[in-house]
Amino acid sequence: MKKPLVVITGASSGIGEATARKLSAEGYSLLLLARRIERLERLGLPNTLCRQVDVMDRERFRHALEEAEAQFGPVDCLINNAGVMLLGHVDTQDPVEWQRMFDVNVLGLLNGVHLVLAGMRERKAGTVINISSIAGRKTFPNHAAYCGTKFAVHAMGENIREEVADDNVRVITIAPGAVETELLGHTTSDDIKAGYESWKDSIGGAIAPEDIAGAISYAYNQPQNVCVREIVIAATRQQ
Ligand code: NDP
Repeated sequence: MKKPLVVITGASSGIGEATARKLSAEGYSLLLLARRIERLERLGLPNTLCRQVDVMDRERFRHALEEAEAQFGPVDCLINNAGVMLLGHVDTQDPVEWQRMFDVNVLGLLNGVHLVLAGMRERKAGTVINISSIAGRKTFPNHAAYCGTKFAVHAMGENIREEVADDNVRVITIAPGAVETELLGHTTSDDIKAGYESWKDSIGGAIAPEDIAGAISYAYNQPQNVCVREIVIAATRQQ
């Protein structure tokens, strides 16, 4: 049987890319979104529409969803994965960096939820998967604004889950520990980056994006009447 449409934001690298490959191999139709469209197209996945969408751009986001639904049918799952981590000391960090994290990690995620939730509630089926972080459950040095965004993702996800449970819609939070991706590369402080890299070495290395893709697939592929509310997944030696 043909599998339904899954939308993945931030599918041009890391966890989003690994999840796109995994769900495509499982037979799902995909709408892949990111700003680097060439990276999406390079994946070359079947039954997949790639669109250049910044999650802050509600109109482009909406248009891409409409195009994909016309081709593949209603969105069954939205994976809110797009995110940025700009580590810094609050007293010296450029406030533009906090703004960007709250924009993408919090408001971008809400944009996605806003665009798909009404349809899911009407159909009495659907799944929203929010990619949070262990930094959404505990704090770490130099993570103040990033932790703020990810604590918000946990809180909003739980709140929305309770609101839509009666309509048979699932809201799932995935909270990864350190994963080997491009995420750290955007932090501007070389000292903080170096410290993070040596911390990763001290725990025997970060886990792979494919490990998170496996957790996402596990949660999503449960029957619709089973909601895996949260998965926290990290390297065994990460505290
Ligand atoms: P990457 O940097 O590899 O991927 C981030 C993705 O987000 C890219 O595809 C990027 O695409 C996209 N993105 C960033 N800004 C925007 C935007 N404004 N609009 C649309 N897409 C955007 O990092 P990860 O794969 O690690 O990150 C994925 C998620 O996992 C994030 O939410 C992150 O916070 C979370 N996470 C990661 C952990 C880690 O250790 N790596 C640990 C815990 C959570 P493009 O630049 O092409 O737009």
